[in-house]
Amino acid sequence: MDKRLADLVGKLESDQGLLLAEYAELIDGRTPEVAELLAERARAVREPIYGRRVFTRGLIEISNVCKNDCLYCGIRCSNRNVKRYRLDPDTIVACARAGWEYGYRTIVLQGGEDKTYYADDVLCDVIARIVQTCPDTAVTVSMGERGRASFERMYDAGATRYLLRHETATREHYERLHPANMSFDHRMQCLYDLREIGYQVGAGMMVGSPFQTTMDLARDLAFIQSFRPDMCGIGPFIPHHDTPFAHEPAGTLELTLYLLSIIRLIHPRVLLPATTALGTIDPLGREKGMEAGANVVMPNLSPVDVRKQYELYDNKICTGDESAVCRGCLARRMAKVGYELVVDRGDVAR
Ligand code: SAH
Repeated sequence: MDKRLADLVGKLESDQGLLLAEYAELIDGRTPEVAELLAERARAVREPIYGRRVFTRGLIEISNVCKNDCLYCGIRCSNRNVKRYRLDPDTIVACARAGWEYGYRTIVLQGGEDKTYYADDVLCDVIARIVQTCPDTAVTVSMGERGRASFERMYDAGATRYLLRHETATREHYERLHPANMSFDHRMQCLYDLREIGYQVGAGMMVGSPFQTTMDLARDLAFIQSFRPDMCGIGPFIPHHDTPFAHEPAGTLELTLYLLSIIRLIHPRVLLPATTALGTIDPLGREKGMEAGANVVMPNLSPVDVRKQYELYDNKICTGDESAVCRGCLARRMAKVGYELVVDRGDVAR
């Protein structure tokens, strides 16, 4: 193996970070041997913190109504071919409780940006009801950008975590993925606000999104190094047929796994999901994600009749399975490669 790259891996592990140019060098110079070395080091640093325990988050896709028009996303507002839905509060709480019975101790409420229906009052009420109905369960919100006051109210209602991928840490790149009325600065500001309020915060980006360069990814890694999110969701970009990026190539399994290992070395305690998108581009994507350093999976808890309508990208997996089946299937898949799904809130290790 190239000595320079082996040295960079060593430096990354000991310093928990690299310079921008070094990240770029590590990405561009990658070979299967370097990937294996990174994965082996990622597993080694994860071992004393999380062992081979895998945390689960039950994901409820509460609405596909969205006011935004992100160019990559299948539920963007200008896609007229989506049948829109909103789950009512009773349905959301019932899904969460069912999830609790299956063993989930984190419930994620995700959806498009839909502040008309999910006004603060409605969302806060749902959060408080889940906290009451599901003992010792963390409520995570992933409903896009909102104002600081809204984040504060949800925190007071009992939500303790928020997932908001930064999508890309490069302003020019952000502007090519989003329409002009969306703001890079506002998205970043939300992340800092959430952190200040006291949330455990999740950031993250797509791998292989259109126009993404090596330097863009290097800046994503530098951002992760400085912001140190509690959770970092990364998955391959996958085109959706009804978006302007329909004919763009998908991100690769190989680069996603490589970046998962790097992120584990930057931030050993980070909660790192092997995402559904990773499981979509490769039948064993999530298992391979674990071997690269991930320690979280996020099975679907949404009612089966709406799952196909929450189509962010083409061919999303598990849209036909019952929630109980999803958990069982993942538990078996993880056991096969030597990992154990646990019944646990899965807080970030301190
Ligand atoms: N409205 C919320 C939730 C967005 S959906 C928000 O703004 O945060 C969750 C994530 O799915 C997004 O952050 C994005 O990174 C990812 N995503 C969207 N379209 C995708 C695609 N075509 N391929 C892969 N991931 C995609």
